[in-house]
Amino acid sequence: MGTVVAMRGWWQDLTDLVLPAECGGCGRPRAVLCPECRAVLSGGAARRVRPVPEPPGLPVVHAAARYADEVRATLLAHKERGALALAGPLGVALAGAVRAGLHRTRAGGEWARSNRVGAPVLLVPVPSGRRAVRARGHDPARRIALAAAGELRRNGIAARVLGVLRQRRAVADQADLDFRQRLENLAGALAVAPGGTRLLSEGPVVLVDDVMTTGASIAEAARAVRAAGRFRTLSGARPCTRERHGKAERNRTSDQGERGRPGGPAGR
Ligand SMILES: [Zn+2]
Repeated sequence: MGTVVAMRGWWQDLTDLVLPAECGGCGRPRAVLCPECRAVLSGGAARRVRPVPEPPGLPVVHAAARYADEVRATLLAHKERGALALAGPLGVALAGAVRAGLHRTRAGGEWARSNRVGAPVLLVPVPSGRRAVRARGHDPARRIALAAAGELRRNGIAARVLGVLRQRRAVADQADLDFRQRLENLAGALAVAPGGTRLLSEGPVVLVDDVMTTGASIAEAARAVRAAGRFRTLSGARPCTRERHGKAERNRTSDQGERGRPGGPAGR
C-alpha cells in the first residue's frame, strides 16, 4: 500500500520533469516561472495596503505585489489549474510580505526584541471552503503559507503554519453584494478549530492569504482569532493585493463574484 502511494508520487515527479512546463506568469516555455515574472512577483518591496473602505478590525496588511498581469496569471495558475510548483515562488513573495509585517509594525518589533526563546511566527492561512478545496484538489493559501514558512526558516526566522481556522458555515456568492453586505455575509463565518487556541498561544500570529480584495475575509479571520483568546494578531500578509479603482475594479468584481463557488477563479 505504502509502495503504491510512493509510486504515484514518483510518477507525478517524472511527469513534471518530462513535460516542459510553461511560465505561470507569461506562458514562456520551459520555466515554472521565468526570471522576469519572478521579479514582478517578489522583486519589489512588500508594501502596506489599506482597502478603501477599510473593514472594521482589519489588522495591518502587507502585500508583495499588485494583483495584475503576470502576478494575476501566476496566482490563478496555482490556484485554479493546479500548477503546484508555483507555490514556491508565491511562498517567497509571501515571506517578503511577512518579513515586512515583522519589521514595520510595533507588535513585530516587540516580538523581535522578546524572541530570545525562539518562539516561531505562526502563519495562519485564511481557509478555503471545503467545496472549493474538493473542486481544486488543494487549498492554495495553505500551500503558499507552507512554502513561505520554509523560506522564512531558510532565512533564520522560526516559522510554522497553523491551519486552525475553519469555515463555520458556507458563505453566499459575493458577486452582487456591496461592501456592507459582504461584511455581513462573512460575519461570524470563521472559527478556530478545537485545540487550535492552545497552538495560537505559541507565537505571534500572522494571517496569510493569496489575494486581498475588500479585506473582508482577513478582517473576519482576525476576528475569529481574537475571539478564541487574547492573541495579538500581528498582521495580515499576502503575496498580492488588488487595486480598488479603475480597470482593476472590473477584475476584482468578476473574480470576487466566484468566491464560495467551487472552481471559480478566486473562490474560497
Ligand atoms: Zn514569465
